[in-house]
Amino acid sequence: MSTVVTDRDGQLVGARIAADGQWRFPPIREVPPRYTLSLITFEDKRFFFHPGVDPLAIVRALRSNLSAGHVESGGSTLTMQVVRLSRRRERNLWQKGIEALLATRLEARCSKTEILALYASYAPFGGNVVGLEAASWRYFARPPEELSWAESATLAILPNAPSSLHPGKGREALLQKRNRLLRRLHEKGFLDEQTLLDALDEPLPDAPHPLPSLARQLVDAAPKGVRTVTGLDIHLQQQVEEMTTRWSDEWARSGIADLSAVVMDIRSGEILAYVGNSSPQRNRPGKDVDIAHAPRSTGSILKPFLFAAALQDGLILPGTLLKDTPVNLGGFSPQNFDLQFSGAVPAREALARSLNVPSVFLLRDYGVARFHSLLQGYGLTTLTKEPDHYGLSLILGGGECSLKEITAAYAALARCYLGLADAPVRDRIALWQTFDALRDVNRPDEMDWHLIRSVRQAAWKTGTSYGFRDAWAVGVTPDVAVGVWCGNAEGAGVPGLVGAKIAGPVLFDLLNLLPPSAAWFEQPGPDEGVWADVCPLSGHLKGPACDVWDHVQLPEAALQSDACPYHREMGGRSVFLLPPAMEWFYKQHHPEYTVLPDLPDEGPMQFIYPESGSTLWIPRQLDGSVEGVVFQLAHRRSNATVWWHLDQSYLGETRLVHQLSLKPSPGRHTVTAVDDEGNSVSVGFTVAEP
Ligand SMILES: [Zn+2]
Repeated sequence: MSTVVTDRDGQLVGARIAADGQWRFPPIREVPPRYTLSLITFEDKRFFFHPGVDPLAIVRALRSNLSAGHVESGGSTLTMQVVRLSRRRERNLWQKGIEALLATRLEARCSKTEILALYASYAPFGGNVVGLEAASWRYFARPPEELSWAESATLAILPNAPSSLHPGKGREALLQKRNRLLRRLHEKGFLDEQTLLDALDEPLPDAPHPLPSLARQLVDAAPKGVRTVTGLDIHLQQQVEEMTTRWSDEWARSGIADLSAVVMDIRSGEILAYVGNSSPQRNRPGKDVDIAHAPRSTGSILKPFLFAAALQDGLILPGTLLKDTPVNLGGFSPQNFDLQFSGAVPAREALARSLNVPSVFLLRDYGVARFHSLLQGYGLTTLTKEPDHYGLSLILGGGECSLKEITAAYAALARCYLGLADAPVRDRIALWQTFDALRDVNRPDEMDWHLIRSVRQAAWKTGTSYGFRDAWAVGVTPDVAVGVWCGNAEGAGVPGLVGAKIAGPVLFDLLNLLPPSAAWFEQPGPDEGVWADVCPLSGHLKGPACDVWDHVQLPEAALQSDACPYHREMGGRSVFLLPPAMEWFYKQHHPEYTVLPDLPDEGPMQFIYPESGSTLWIPRQLDGSVEGVVFQLAHRRSNATVWWHLDQSYLGETRLVHQLSLKPSPGRHTVTAVDDEGNSVSVGFTVAEP
């Protein structure tokens, strides 16, 4: 049997020829009315009334065969022909007798509808085409239900003379036969005068059509030799293939050969459109790889899952300030995309701007092992190694996942919010705040907006893997989740292969193909979750010293989170004060921030890099010599002078910018800084063996 894949309504998505080189589709269950009427009118007028054999027809056939002097034809009912198709014996009177006997048995076992379906499934239609469905697609490029009267009549005649559609061979005779049949159908009242005239005008088909070839990788992977009904929507599939092919050809000029896209229905969880790899006509290695199924480095695309889980746990509130300063965590020194630090940034903004450093701090607090099992709970099956293997890089693309599973995981966020399915984060306020942070108001700076014609509302996220190998964009609405991946199937990186620039525009073009959705996720009701006072500067719960606050709807666990640690009472008024290392960067982006040099209970200095207790891997140059590591500290007072010491030995002094390049030997060390007012601060660290 051929492999056949259809969409949700039975429309043919694609097919693969059977192993014996025949286009023989898996059996059909029903035969459409026009074909049924054409067939019985042509082959077996009393089909619905006889018991498998038709004595009247036999008598007439015998008479004409006798006068011809040999077995010509006729006398066989459709039931007998079904028997013959299954036996493939010689045609003589003896065999015909056996067929008649077997036909009455078949009639006893099967309904007339079933017998018709058997005939239509196994009848030969010329060349390597077997069965009505394959014939309908090959000769007329449409399913049997959509055939016209002329087409149905042609296919009713063909099994009787299967070779007559070969070019230049018996076509005229076939046309005569078809028209005679159409007139008979008219005489019986099955079609009116005008329909008959139109039908007589229709030409016979020419060369066979190629079968539809959509969702190639899906059809390739389908079970062989059977019919698979998928959840695809064939019209959307066509549009998505056209759109992705256009984009893929566009990006190919920049060395980005491959593009994959998945559209998933939120309500049913089914895949509506699936492009394993776009632009099949453009020849290149890897064009047949199903990338939607292949594990690829995730870049930042998993960050929303951490944000939602941390909200549900009360680990953060949406506006909680996360640390964004230079960091070395066990030899891992993540950088933000723009290589800048903000000092402190609200969690919501860190997600929307996809900042790496605050995400790494957040993952450290949440726990790598917990996050790893959370992701597995979202159905990401390819993160098979132990959590330690990925470490904190798990949030920055240290793991590999497939586009199909990532799109499904985003869909799971929406499905859970809408109460359609369960997922690891089920707190509706946490999910709502995640969608809200990912809404189109906050967009990464690197997006090329002129490429986007019209933009619909979606919660969306992009990702770029290390070495510019993978560009991701996933968007979710209350109706659909759409995932896009761009890159090279073979793995080559391309400068400029950035999620927001390359995959983002494709995502929005695909979202715009879909019918307008129910606008946006309905906001949780006022009785859901809890309401609490939140400090707008720190994003934490209001503390005793906060002099401003908002009344905000939060997940229940938020009530267990920490109160604002940055507001304090000083001289009878409320002061917002960050630790020096955060302040050093924060004040550069926040002119309204007031730096207070004199604090009674803590020093004015703090190390920005390294963090206390961290382990440093000191880079070596090619000749083996050690490169310096830049140590940095923040001083609240801008005119301070600082003297530096490594262990007990003096290193030098700094003013204004307090940075010093050091080359400490492997082992444990302490750096101490002393300022011009006698304040001192130390940081202990370990230098790893090279
Ligand atoms: Zn506060």
